[in-house]
Amino acid sequence: MAVGRHRSKQMEAAAGTVAEAPPAANRRAGAARGPMMRQYDLVDRVRAYNPDTDEDLLNRAYVYAMRAHGEQTRASGDPYFSHPLEVAAILTNLKLDDATIAAALLHDTIEDTEATRGEIDQLFGPEIGHLVEGLTKLKKLDLVTREAKQAENLRKLLLAIADDVRVLLVKLADRLHNMRTLEFVPQASRQRIAEETLDIYAPLAGRMGMQEMREELEDLAFRVLDPGAYAVVTERLNSLAERNRNLIGEIESQLLSNLANHHMTAQIKGRRKRAFSIWTKMERKSVGFEQLSDIFGFRVIVDSVEDCYRALGIVHTAWPVVPGRFKDYISTPKQNDYRSIHTTVIGPGNQRVELQIRTREMDEIAELGIAAHALYKDGIGSPTELLKRESNAYAWLRHTIEVLAEGLNPEEFLEHTKLELFHDQVFCFTPKGKLIALPRKANAIDFAYAVHTDVGTSAVGCKINGKFAPLASELQNGDEVEIMTSPAQSAPPAAWEQLAVTGKAKAAIRRATRAAIRDQYAGLGRRIVERLFQRAKMDYADDKLKGALPRLARASIDDVMAAVGRGEMKAADVARAMYPDYKEERVARFVPGGAKKSKVTATAAKAATHPQNAIPVRGINTDLPVRFAPNGGAVPGDRIVGIVTPGEGITIYPIQSPALKDFEEMPSRWLDVRWDVDESTPQRFPARLFVQQVNEPGSLAQVATVIAEHDGNIDHIHMSRRSPDFTELTIDLEVYDLKHLNAIIAQLRAKAVVARVERVNG
Ligand code: MN
Repeated sequence: MAVGRHRSKQMEAAAGTVAEAPPAANRRAGAARGPMMRQYDLVDRVRAYNPDTDEDLLNRAYVYAMRAHGEQTRASGDPYFSHPLEVAAILTNLKLDDATIAAALLHDTIEDTEATRGEIDQLFGPEIGHLVEGLTKLKKLDLVTREAKQAENLRKLLLAIADDVRVLLVKLADRLHNMRTLEFVPQASRQRIAEETLDIYAPLAGRMGMQEMREELEDLAFRVLDPGAYAVVTERLNSLAERNRNLIGEIESQLLSNLANHHMTAQIKGRRKRAFSIWTKMERKSVGFEQLSDIFGFRVIVDSVEDCYRALGIVHTAWPVVPGRFKDYISTPKQNDYRSIHTTVIGPGNQRVELQIRTREMDEIAELGIAAHALYKDGIGSPTELLKRESNAYAWLRHTIEVLAEGLNPEEFLEHTKLELFHDQVFCFTPKGKLIALPRKANAIDFAYAVHTDVGTSAVGCKINGKFAPLASELQNGDEVEIMTSPAQSAPPAAWEQLAVTGKAKAAIRRATRAAIRDQYAGLGRRIVERLFQRAKMDYADDKLKGALPRLARASIDDVMAAVGRGEMKAADVARAMYPDYKEERVARFVPGGAKKSKVTATAAKAATHPQNAIPVRGINTDLPVRFAPNGGAVPGDRIVGIVTPGEGITIYPIQSPALKDFEEMPSRWLDVRWDVDESTPQRFPARLFVQQVNEPGSLAQVATVIAEHDGNIDHIHMSRRSPDFTELTIDLEVYDLKHLNAIIAQLRAKAVVARVERVNG
């Protein structure tokens, strides 16, 4: 049997590569500087895998994009249009549908030319319009100032914006072409683009199962980021490959003849490892590379899963096996759906030989990743056959979530749960390109407070994507938001508290409006005090009052004035504190021990402990019962206030509690209280959490375990299922303090099954 004829083109190409040139130079070098690809070249490439392609559509997209980009040029001096064309060509390697190829041709038109979404919709239909708009939004990512901390957010943003996985595929192809032509870009941005590629785009390609693309992106970035290391590794790779040149052909023919002896046909593909993957291995394990198996691997492609195991048996019989290197990813596929058998044997020339044994389908999925799933969705037939039977085999690619749900490993693949979670968030930009992540439904008020509290406080208007808009406008993913501020506005309108969505904005607005009200009282109090001094013909001076503060048991002059303004303190008391000789006609004599507790004030200078309540709080000098806010409690570390309910007692609320709003107009019922916790005898305090969890077997147990493992006491859990995907939990628990509570919240947020965690204050 003439097995030898199965020697593949790839093998020849790969074997040739070994001796002749480093891969970087060999790799489609023509893309950047060679003759530009033509319209018919592109159509030919598509027709090769999709005989029913809509050539007219591709031609129109081609002509439209070429005209739109007109005389624009790239950094290389090439016509700009060569770029979208090359991006489209890359996507033909992934065998993508007409809409994706057309979108690739058009991907920079809205951002960089006069083209509009409306026009593209009209000419090419809303499907392509939607894809191009998605890419336009992603393009803003390129302008984002690079902060290491933002990498995770950027990844989320990509996934949140790309509601159609084809947008991501075009974006990756776009980045790949930009990386291939990076040498023409100025050094400073070259560095940034390479880092971003390594941090964001290469891992994304990997997650989508596109190993080829991931490795090429990594290698191109590596070459820019560490040219020295890249050169050393590449040189060593080349010399090792040169030395083993004959051996590679020998191994291949022995493999084929061994399989042929057992009546098996197979295709052998040689695969040279990439500089970056060798380098990271060297860094991680601090080992050098010496052997052929360090730089070169072989793929044995067979017809069926059964043949994979047969081939494995044949190989293991013919050569000694290297122990510990056998992995069966066919029976246990990797998270990104990779399937293959891996083994290493001692082959010809006493060389270690790394083998990957797989079927054609597995090979295609390993190379094309998510795109290949379209072809093998039904698990049968070649791509071409499938396309003949069903003209739109790619329809399913449209909605990422659906795709992933239908995929072979829905719960793992592309971490679809997380992807869904990102849809709870909206990502926007400042005019300078800083990324601001907000919960969905958030508006420009939330954005302003997310930028800075001062920006929120002084916000008077905003522009969204360059157009004036109300501050209450709900923000969309990718919006650029510019906040107009006015120094004249020292406090936001109180009504904003209802409009704001984020806790941060709500709390800040509440604080600011409360502070503004307090300022008004303080101004009033000052006028009252100054008038009294005028009438009594005494001199008032802030310094003098400052010296009297301890006698008034107030921390600041403003506190005194606000108390006077509220009517909690008399101006005469202030005068007497400053001038003990000051006499006023109706001064009540203070009788120690005989004072009536007619009014609960915040003036208690020392802690009062009461046997009937164990709540360690200072500032309460009454015998009234004290309790915590019934919904959500309070924990040390919270700023707290006491609210007096006549006939009932005192309730301790954290300052952020929305319930406090009901008492806003009743300043006399507010008590300024502070924690007085004894560190030596730890005590627990009540708090409440809202948790949104993904519906999965065992997810509730995971939540409970996190809380228990971090020493939280669960008092009560209330569950409600809001959707098929999520369950909402209200958890009452007891913790030592705010730090403890926040640690538990952070641990919960780190769990994949937990979508949202918020503290609840009733
Ligand atoms: Mn582009």
